[in-house]
Amino acid sequence: MPVPLKPLFDELARANRILAHEGIMDAFGHVSVRNPDNAARYFLSRAIAPDLVLAGDVREYTLESEPVQQNDERHYIERVIHGEIYKARPDVMAVCHHHAPEILPYAITGTELVPVFLMAASMGQKVPHWDQRTEFGDTNLLVSKPEEGRSLARALGPNWMVIMSRHGATVAGRSLREVMFRTYYSIRNAALLTQAKALGEVKALSVGEIEQSGDTNLQPGQLARAWDYWSQRLEHSEIKSGKKTAGARRSKTPVKSKGRKRK
Ligand SMILES: [Zn+2]
Repeated sequence: MPVPLKPLFDELARANRILAHEGIMDAFGHVSVRNPDNAARYFLSRAIAPDLVLAGDVREYTLESEPVQQNDERHYIERVIHGEIYKARPDVMAVCHHHAPEILPYAITGTELVPVFLMAASMGQKVPHWDQRTEFGDTNLLVSKPEEGRSLARALGPNWMVIMSRHGATVAGRSLREVMFRTYYSIRNAALLTQAKALGEVKALSVGEIEQSGDTNLQPGQLARAWDYWSQRLEHSEIKSGKKTAGARRSKTPVKSKGRKRK
């Protein structure tokens, strides 16, 4: 039975708006999901700011990052990040690329990002750094060519997150909710680590703590709880700002969001 796509598109659109609402993305950044019925395709919004993404903006791409429906609309320049990671990692079902300010000091200095509190264990034991300059010299810093996306995917390797020098980070997951959880708490972790370093010696999670706490954090109930919380905050904000009418259905799990009119 094919997976119905409308709820998936609603959830992907909502994920974009949550990432904007939580301050992780501004006008830039994107999140995608692999097509659950066709591993050789993925879904990503057309090129608009994450806060504006609705289900109708979701487009399908091949793993070469070519739009399945050819037309003259704009697509994200950096979509090869998604296509090349899906190609390299059959276990990955969702990818998020962002330039969150809490991560940038690590991307600028090359400082190691280690998990230092329980909610960040899902980052895993290693967060590699990728420097585009090493392989490609001076570029415009965008990951826009397939070979650049492949290089990034190689740097990610078997890990779940890669920091991109002078640019941002890319996070992978086995589901959209997992990638949202890992993205959100890795950013929280980066802020906490920066603050903790100013106070004194940092004691990171042990390998055993990362394994055990990571497994606990990624249980479906935990992921749903976090998703519902972010979703509710978004909904309140959208009602308050007039983007959504009061009394609209709350977006509990499973998400049954109603469309909203774009101004
Ligand atoms: Zn970028």
